[in-house]
Amino acid sequence: MGIAPLWRLRSTGAAEGGPSPSRLDSGLASGTVGQAPVPGTAAGDWDELDRQVAACQACVLCRQRKQAVLGVGDREADWLFIGEGPGAEEDAQGEPFVGQAGKLLDAMLAGIDLRRGEGVYIANAVKCRPPGNRTPEAEEMNACRPFLERQIELLRPRIIVLLGRSAACTLLGADRALASLRGRSHDYRGIPVIVTYHPAYLLRNLPEKAKAWEDLLLARRVAREAAAEGQLPL
Ligand code: URA
Repeated sequence: MGIAPLWRLRSTGAAEGGPSPSRLDSGLASGTVGQAPVPGTAAGDWDELDRQVAACQACVLCRQRKQAVLGVGDREADWLFIGEGPGAEEDAQGEPFVGQAGKLLDAMLAGIDLRRGEGVYIANAVKCRPPGNRTPEAEEMNACRPFLERQIELLRPRIIVLLGRSAACTLLGADRALASLRGRSHDYRGIPVIVTYHPAYLLRNLPEKAKAWEDLLLARRVAREAAAEGQLPL
C-alpha cells in the first residue's frame, strides 16, 4: 500500500491506547469537577452546535481552554474518526489533530486512501483541552457526549473509527482494555464502529502500528461492505 514510510513519524512516551502519560498528571483534581453534569441533549444544525460547544461550561475543562474544538472536515463525510481531546496545539489553533499525532493520523488516513477533509471528519471525545493533556475524566466525557452524539446525527457517517480508549469509553460505554475491543466491528446506532490505537500511543509504541494497520484495513473492508449493501446509518 506504500504507507510504510509515512508511518515512520517519531515521538516519545507510553500509555495504552491513549495519548500521553502526561495526561495522568492532572492539573485539576477530579473532586473539583464537583457536581457531575447530567448528560443532556444537543440539538440544532451545525452552526447551533458550534455555538453551543463554544459557550459550553458544563465541566471544568471550559476554565482553561483557549477555545473549544468542535471538529474538522467534510460534513458529508462517510468516515468519522474520533480521538480523545484537544492538546495544546489544537487548543491554540481550534482544529483537532494538528500536532505530531495529527501528522500520524494523516499518514494513517493516506494509508487507506483517505484525506483529511475529503469524505473524512475528525472529532474528539471532549471538545476542550484537558489541563496538562491529562486523560479526560468520566464526568467530562459525559458532559461532552451530547455534542458528539449530535455531531454523529448530523454527519450520518458510514463508519466510525475510535482512536484510543477514551473514544471507545465514551461512544461504546466500554471501560475495557483497548486490545479487547480491536479486531471486530461494534455498533453505534446502526453505524459500524472500529476501535484502534490512538496515534499518540502509536508514536510511542512503534510495533503496535502493525495492529493499527490491521484495524484500518478492517475498517476499510467494513466501510466497503456497508457501501455495497447501500446501508444508510441512523
Ligand atoms: N489527540 C487527540 O485525541 N485529539 C486531538 O485533537 C489531538 C491530539
